[in-house]
Amino acid sequence: MKDCIFCKIINGEIPCSMVYQDERVLAFRDINPLAPVHVLIVPKQHIESAQALNESTSQIAAHIFSKIPGIAKELGIAESGYRVITNIGKDGGQAVPHLHFHILGGRKLETALG
Ligand code: 5GP
Ligand code: ZN
Repeated sequence: MKDCIFCKIINGEIPCSMVYQDERVLAFRDINPLAPVHVLIVPKQHIESAQALNESTSQIAAHIFSKIPGIAKELGIAESGYRVITNIGKDGGQAVPHLHFHILGGRKLETALG
């Protein structure tokens, strides 16, 4: 999708520090890390947010979640633990309107979420 920063990363127009990819998803380090490990995992297909998931597109979310444990192992946070977050829309604090899951770890994270 034109003007989508994550689509530009996926098609190579904008560089990224890649940690995993396959034909359907890309995982890369967040440019502004909020924890020692901060990786984003995104579908290569442009989906606006988790609010846009439905019976057919939710398969990509299942695929993403099937890959997260292996990525966490590679990142060295599988044992210590981590958090997976997806922000949705304005009140959810979503800045980039392309579905993505934050993987945060490498330190004890704050308990508060809201
Ligand atoms: P959101 O607030 O939409 O849930 O998260 C968007 C995330 O994308 C932010 O954590 C932000 O730092 C990250 N981000 C924005 N632009 C870029 C970029 O060009 N490259 C990378 N690697 N991360 C980005
Ligand atoms: Zn996009």
